[in-house]
Amino acid sequence: MRHRIAVVGGGPAGLAFARVLHRRDRPVTVLERDPARDARPPGGTLDLHEGLGQLALDKAGLLAEFQALSRPEGQAMRILGMGGEILRDWRPRPDERANPEIDRGQLRDLLLGPLDVRWGQAVTEVVPGTGDGVLVRFADGRQEAFDLVVGADGAWSRVRPAVSSATPHYTGVTLIETSLDDVDARHPGLARLIGDGSMAVYGVNRNLVAQRNSGGHVKVYAQFRAPLDWHTDPHRHLGPDRRAGLDGSLDLTDTEAVRAALLALFDGWPAPVLNLLRHGTAFAHRPHYVLPAPHTWTHVPGVTLLGDAAHLMPPLGVGANLAMLEGAELAESVAAASGPEDLDEAVRAFEERMWARAGRWATMTAAGLERLVSPDPAQAIALFDEVQPS
Ligand SMILES: Cc1cc2nc3c(=O)[nH]c(=O)nc-3n(C[C@H](O)[C@H](O)[C@H](O)COP(=O)(O)OP(=O)(O)OC[C@H]3O[C@@H](n4cnc5c(N)ncnc54)[C@H](O)[C@@H]3O)c2cc1C
Repeated sequence: MRHRIAVVGGGPAGLAFARVLHRRDRPVTVLERDPARDARPPGGTLDLHEGLGQLALDKAGLLAEFQALSRPEGQAMRILGMGGEILRDWRPRPDERANPEIDRGQLRDLLLGPLDVRWGQAVTEVVPGTGDGVLVRFADGRQEAFDLVVGADGAWSRVRPAVSSATPHYTGVTLIETSLDDVDARHPGLARLIGDGSMAVYGVNRNLVAQRNSGGHVKVYAQFRAPLDWHTDPHRHLGPDRRAGLDGSLDLTDTEAVRAALLALFDGWPAPVLNLLRHGTAFAHRPHYVLPAPHTWTHVPGVTLLGDAAHLMPPLGVGANLAMLEGAELAESVAAASGPEDLDEAVRAFEERMWARAGRWATMTAAGLERLVSPDPAQAIALFDEVQPS
């Protein structure tokens, strides 16, 4: 029996789900809000772990292609002290394949492959339990029925309300992202400082991380503790000791004003590290939100969630990995199901497994964020000492 299956969202979760179903010759409708594959910048680099994201790619038959594209050298990690001295410098062995990096755009294209995505399909609501299955409503007023709707539509999921009333809450840590292009040719000193992978500096309640992507592109992340509306009065919220550049309210769309505010916030940090902010292009504000952990719900026949829609957690290198593995695992279970009861039982069993695993990671990453953006910067280094191979 062929079930009518839709996945809402063409991110790592939705595409892994669709690609594994495709491999099993099962039809699936991928509904993506973006009008086209390149409608917006795909974002930074992702490290895919051996037992998580790489396992998902293996289930999709894409592991060899991933290995050809990924950057094992990107696993390198360097931590600098406040004097610019190197405190830690981990370099992967030549054969180290535990967590190689891949650009998000490359991963998206790898997963997309032959998939026929329906672009420009913004889902507004999902209604389970109608006579004809689960109804999907679209922003343009259309609606369509399916036997199973999988919500892989990220942090602000429109599918989630069909199974749960949980909403994301702010963690108290925010992030401003910027980037540098062609770093090896244009900023060779910074290129050497960053090395082949990531470089980080940890201070009191704030940190700066630079991460190499492919093609000489570098993403820079400035993270700090602040109330959500800190930019309305940065001087009051970020400390009167950093007055210059923090007066008045900050327009987050004004590149030079954001640069000045960040330079004030990180005043006194090593000069080469501040150059990352001086040379950064546009700045994007991305406060960290999370869902309650663990996030579970009473099973609703015909609807389930994957990835950030199910368990939004702090960005400590695992969200996309879990999203992909869940997508691949659910697809395998669904492909093995025959009748409607079988399908429902497969989804129910999958949810139990996902909740247990994601709940553990959500707790770990929440504790990790506390240590990475901490009043005691030694906590951040200790965290890396615990997880990096010695
Ligand atoms: C700065 C940062 C760094 C990170 N680094 C890492 C890392 O190194 N490793 C890692 O594993 N994770 C990392 N993460 C986490 C990772 O980005 C997410 O966990 C992952 O993208 C979740 O995948 P997803 O498919 O569930 O959701 P998303 O990637 O958010 O994809 C959701 C998709 O659904 C679409 N969509 C949304 N709403 C609708 C709608 N109403 N209708 C139709 N389509 C819709 C969106 O356009 C999008 O394509 C990082 C996160 C951040 C913020």
